[in-house]
Amino acid sequence: MRVFCLISIILLTACTREAAVPEEKVKKEISEENIAVTEDGKITFQIFNTVKVSQEKVESIKEELLDAYDDIQNSIHTDYVPSERINVFLNKGNQASWGMRSELKLFSIKENQYPLVHELTHSLLGYGDNFDSNMGYLTKEGFAAYMEDKHGKQKSHSHKIMKYFFDINKSIPIRKLIDLKQDDAYFRPPLTSQEEYTLQWMSYLHSASFVSYLIDTYGLEEFEGIYNKEDIASKIEEVYGKNISEIEKD
Ligand SMILES: [Zn+2]
Repeated sequence: MRVFCLISIILLTACTREAAVPEEKVKKEISEENIAVTEDGKITFQIFNTVKVSQEKVESIKEELLDAYDDIQNSIHTDYVPSERINVFLNKGNQASWGMRSELKLFSIKENQYPLVHELTHSLLGYGDNFDSNMGYLTKEGFAAYMEDKHGKQKSHSHKIMKYFFDINKSIPIRKLIDLKQDDAYFRPPLTSQEEYTLQWMSYLHSASFVSYLIDTYGLEEFEGIYNKEDIASKIEEVYGKNISEIEKD
């Protein structure tokens, strides 16, 4: 592993400085390996170019991964220890992307609509006990959307759309979105009808808007205190000194 890291670092330097490394060799090593290692050496991303985009595109995705890693490292901190190796699949089609412990499944690659920062936020900061819904969805999905809005390319426009939901009286109360007994119906509906897709999309947007409001108003450090925690309602009161409906009104 270490040998490859070294090789890719040397080659990368070689590429950017256009030093005298035979071009053929550079291409071969990169396409055979398709590996990106974070500067601190903690995480190795292996890219699987299933959708078969150009090597140039793969290289730019590698850079996006390393930049996103830095941005996420500089955000909140959790006890979660991420996987040392994360396989990144660039998939065909336009399905929903996924960020799991050791796998990032990205879709809509050719359309440039893959939410890389969002999914990597899940993989690096953890989700529930072991990528499950034990601690609900709101803080994780909200924060991943916040990070994508801030550092990624897929903007949610959550405040704008939320304003519209308020205007037409169609907002979902936050207490419903954090209720462990009913949150699956909002965030993980079976997706058998258009209504379910809409409900899921609305739940994600509500989370994005609520979390960005919290962070923009009170800061990242406070938010760290409620991220992926049990009994989120009382955690919110504890950290912010207000209950959920008071914050919602604000
Ligand atoms: Zn997500």
